[in-house]
Amino acid sequence: MISVPDSALVLLMGASGSGKSTFAARHFDARAVISSDQLRGALAGDEADQHATDAAFDRLHRWLDARLAAGVLAVVDATNVDWMRRSELVRRARQHGRPAMAIAFDLPLDLCLLRNAARPRTVRAAVIRRQHDELRRGLHRLDLEGFSAVHILRAEGDIDSAVVQIEKGPVTRAL
Ligand code: GDP
Ligand code: MG
Repeated sequence: MISVPDSALVLLMGASGSGKSTFAARHFDARAVISSDQLRGALAGDEADQHATDAAFDRLHRWLDARLAAGVLAVVDATNVDWMRRSELVRRARQHGRPAMAIAFDLPLDLCLLRNAARPRTVRAAVIRRQHDELRRGLHRLDLEGFSAVHILRAEGDIDSAVVQIEKGPVTRAL
């Protein structure tokens, strides 16, 4: 069971095609989910437009700050395979006194590539391979990154059977 305090930052991590957005839609209220792809799409008209990345992450950080300040759940749906990007998010949670937790989608590379190929908007295979490598390299030291909990889902079965429980905490709204 994945227990999530209702004021937490939940950081989803995984290569493109690993199932982050599907998982987010299944387990979390859509209003809690902050997606880098959606922000890119809103800014550039194209979710894959990498030129919009800096602007998208700027918006992502600001919206995340607002939710953390309000004491409401924030789920960041981005690849988050880069430890520097992760540390930036964890720092923000800490600044607001909120717990940060990680859910990593460590699926086989071939499955990510297969799913990616079946999508209308595909990401280059080389990009997915690099993301997958970077995720793998970071997994063993995730415990040292300041998360209150780390969950690593390693197979489709783990993801299918995952149960997410949102835990009500003390109300500490500071809007
Ligand atoms: P993301 O790039 O990590 O956000 O991955 P998505 O959630 O967009 O999923 C990528 C593709 O895999 C989509 O076409 C999904 O429909 C499919 N997918 C995601 N999760 C599952 C799953 O648990 N089982 C199966 N069969 N397909 C999935
Ligand atoms: Mg996605």
